[in-house]
Amino acid sequence: MTNRIRSILEKHTEMIQNAIPLIASENITSPAVDEACNSDFSHRYAEGWTGNRVYAGCKYIDEVEALCMDLTKDYFECIHADVRPVSGVMANLVLYNAFTSRNNGKLCCMSIPKGGHISHGPYRATSGRKVYGTAGTVRGLEIQYLAFDEENMNIDPDESAKIIREFEPEMVMFGASVFLFPHPVKELSDVAKEVGAYVGYDAAHVAGLIGSGYFQDPLREGADAMSLSTHKTLPGPQHGAVLSNREDLVKKLRHAAFPALFSNHHLHNVAGLAVAIEEMLEYGKTYHKQVIENAQAFAQALYERGFNVLCEHKGFTESHQIVVDITGFKDTVGLGGDIESILEEANIIINRNLLPWDIREGRHYMNPGGLRLGTSEVTRLGMGKNEMVDIAEFFKQIIIDGKDPKEVKKDVKAFRDDFQEINYCFQESPKPKAYEYIKFY
Ligand SMILES: *Cc1c(COP(=O)(O)O)cnc(C)c1O
Repeated sequence: MTNRIRSILEKHTEMIQNAIPLIASENITSPAVDEACNSDFSHRYAEGWTGNRVYAGCKYIDEVEALCMDLTKDYFECIHADVRPVSGVMANLVLYNAFTSRNNGKLCCMSIPKGGHISHGPYRATSGRKVYGTAGTVRGLEIQYLAFDEENMNIDPDESAKIIREFEPEMVMFGASVFLFPHPVKELSDVAKEVGAYVGYDAAHVAGLIGSGYFQDPLREGADAMSLSTHKTLPGPQHGAVLSNREDLVKKLRHAAFPALFSNHHLHNVAGLAVAIEEMLEYGKTYHKQVIENAQAFAQALYERGFNVLCEHKGFTESHQIVVDITGFKDTVGLGGDIESILEEANIIINRNLLPWDIREGRHYMNPGGLRLGTSEVTRLGMGKNEMVDIAEFFKQIIIDGKDPKEVKKDVKAFRDDFQEINYCFQESPKPKAYEYIKFY
């Protein structure tokens, strides 16, 4: 490696090793996963389906991919697992290709300010706000948003049923990026079927929770297919997958993926995903239980220190995420963007987030009224409920007490010293060092 690149990577490693990583869409992979991801597969091509490739040299790639599909089917208890989509967005495109008409097909989903993802978004370049969401821009879909209950931070089932009946979409997509509570898949799938719509569920954030048996079970609640990222609550390499339990849709879903959406599908990450799923079959139940308990404990600790954590009346969360309304600090510290920056000075890494009512109240995504915090990575580093209280205390010192974040950074570093190993993965004793696989040649 050249010195200038090495020096940048070294600085990043130093930063992240001493940080408190609370980005809800992130996680870290184990050394076993990284070993698979760094294999020769990263140099190869294998277009097509396992056993039916357009290149030679794929014998062992086929074996690993078939194994990866079997493990994924075991973990999620389903009959179809396509592990080729290279990301969650690509997995969503597979669902759009399978279930909607190109140009002017109709989709119902969550809007971005309420927690939906850009990949569900419309194409709207001229009137109103500029949006270039994947569903509209790539597939040409016309989009009608589901109704949202701001008090309970969830899809409003009754109002949404009316919308689905009136709009008559070809597909209803559940799932979101701000995702505190299970969506009403059961109630609304019946309504979707009434109007002949397919039901998709975007599990990018909550895939690990679902696989380990928590949160909800979309494929048994009425979803025809589920799309996911493999690197959020599921601690695998950055990749995607599509799952289904409907025998009659398998062919449709397969053909919606290839050759339309990818040529090579990042084979090294398929191998890495196989290892990550093996780990979750072994450790997922304990890991994801702790992730959710930590999110609830973190929310409670922040709430007790004067932070307006949303949905106290519902126990704050049933996932790995919590959302904090920080508009009360507007005149002292600032809004979401300001607080994100000030916490970063203390090496606490979080993301600002739109609250459902932000746009209405004139706030923008660059400096919104909310913070979204996730516990997947800190849990993997071995932290439990006590540490969630410690982290909440750091938040209080910086945001409420006005302590200099540069000072808090020293305490954050000392706090992180005790959490430098990866848990809930192979090689439990001695535990593997976090970031050890980052080798500088
Ligand atoms: C993160 C996310 C995605 C995109 O996943 P990538 O793997 O980054 O492409 C899709 N949908 C939702 C709801 C997400 O939160």
